[in-house]
Amino acid sequence: MIRWFLGLVFVAALATAGVVALRTFQFTPAPVPHTAIAAAPDLKVDPQAAAERLGEAIRFQTISVQPGETWNAAPFSAQRAWLERAYPAFHAVTSREIINNESMFFTWAGSDTTLAPILILAHLDVVPVESWSKDDWTNGPFSGAVKDGYVWGRGSIDDKGSLIAILEAANALAVSGFKPKRTILFAFGHDEEVSGAQGAQSIAKLLQERGLKAWFAIDEGQAIIAAHPMTGGPVSLIGIAEKGYATLRITATARAGHSSTPDKDTAVTLLSEAILRVHRMPIEMRLEGGPALGMIRALAPQLPVALRAAAANEWLFSPLINQRLGADPLAAAMLRTTVAPTMVEGGPKDNILPGRATARINFRLHPRDSAASILARAQEAVKGIPGIAVEWDQPPHDASPVSSSTSDSFALVAAMARAVAPDAPVAPSLVMAGTDSRYYSGVAQDVYRFAPALFTVEDIGGVHGKNERLSVDNLSRMIKGYAHLMAAGAG
Ligand SMILES: [Zn+2]
Repeated sequence: MIRWFLGLVFVAALATAGVVALRTFQFTPAPVPHTAIAAAPDLKVDPQAAAERLGEAIRFQTISVQPGETWNAAPFSAQRAWLERAYPAFHAVTSREIINNESMFFTWAGSDTTLAPILILAHLDVVPVESWSKDDWTNGPFSGAVKDGYVWGRGSIDDKGSLIAILEAANALAVSGFKPKRTILFAFGHDEEVSGAQGAQSIAKLLQERGLKAWFAIDEGQAIIAAHPMTGGPVSLIGIAEKGYATLRITATARAGHSSTPDKDTAVTLLSEAILRVHRMPIEMRLEGGPALGMIRALAPQLPVALRAAAANEWLFSPLINQRLGADPLAAAMLRTTVAPTMVEGGPKDNILPGRATARINFRLHPRDSAASILARAQEAVKGIPGIAVEWDQPPHDASPVSSSTSDSFALVAAMARAVAPDAPVAPSLVMAGTDSRYYSGVAQDVYRFAPALFTVEDIGGVHGKNERLSVDNLSRMIKGYAHLMAAGAG
């Protein structure tokens, strides 16, 4: 009897090993669809002159401010006037609309109006530079200096680098006599860094009113990263979705009074209990249901065999994957909605029992979770704790829809990536931050987030930080990439 049982276990184990090996072997990148991609025309672009123009753009201090603060419009209108002078051919072939005083929407009409247009996004505004950090910059944050192979300053990467590269490419195409078959739309919002409500949201609404539906939209958000954590090498990451953003406010109320005679529980202990319960509530973490599995699949040939085997056989190794990837904050953020308690407020003095204590918990929503379901689960989690109220601090926004990674437009963006980084595999990915592109999901079949620039960890550290700079090589790459995208996609 026992021998028979052991024999059965052995056969079962052998069969499982066979399935694991077979699935691992078969776990290769999904085939990238083919589109007829014409070669980009040989454009005359002078990277050094383009770098000087990016420097000029940086010197317009187009700083976006929080709602309620005074908006300084002058740098925006000065920048707009300068763009007209710097890119005359582009302005000659397009028509321009100004939205909410500052944002710009350009149409480069194609000859075949039956084709859905391409929508190219960038933003005109930048985040401020904290006054204490101004002196720590190697070159002034609004100097726009072109030095040591870099263009220095706030916005050089985020997002004037893209803006200028797009305009350089389109202007050079216009000069070369290129005439698009497919219409190309350019939407440049002016308040991306403070919500995008006046810019991107209004432009998207306009497109909706006109019944326009783009073939795809492309925005900032991802790039070619020099060293991917899984492979150690360069990877072109194309953002096919971005996480949502929501902040929960938990309020605890209890008897206020003197701290010498406390009740068994106070507003602070009740709040602590609620924070812990919400923090620990189960939130699904899986490879599936977002871009993660597609990313691992795309990188499969470069992955260590153990990881490839685990990913190919998620049905068997799911706990192992969760344990391994879950320990790494970056990987975990790819696979799940994150929960981060960030703010607490209680009494004003150490000897006062506060009548009220509040906490804020920030969620970055994975595409599989909705804000409504997270709120319902949080309310369920705190059930039974007296005096607790749970609600959204501001209106939450869900993750974006997940765009296709097998469409012709994805193939076009992938071709653009390969045109500037032939050795980097192309992989779909999830963008952790918010971009203007989230407003366009209703007016574009697919939305991609990718800039054809090669970034190191140090480069990315400059975004919203100090010493933001873009190498002239990267600017050159971006111009080439966007020109390829327009010529191949609309030619
Ligand atoms: Zn940006």
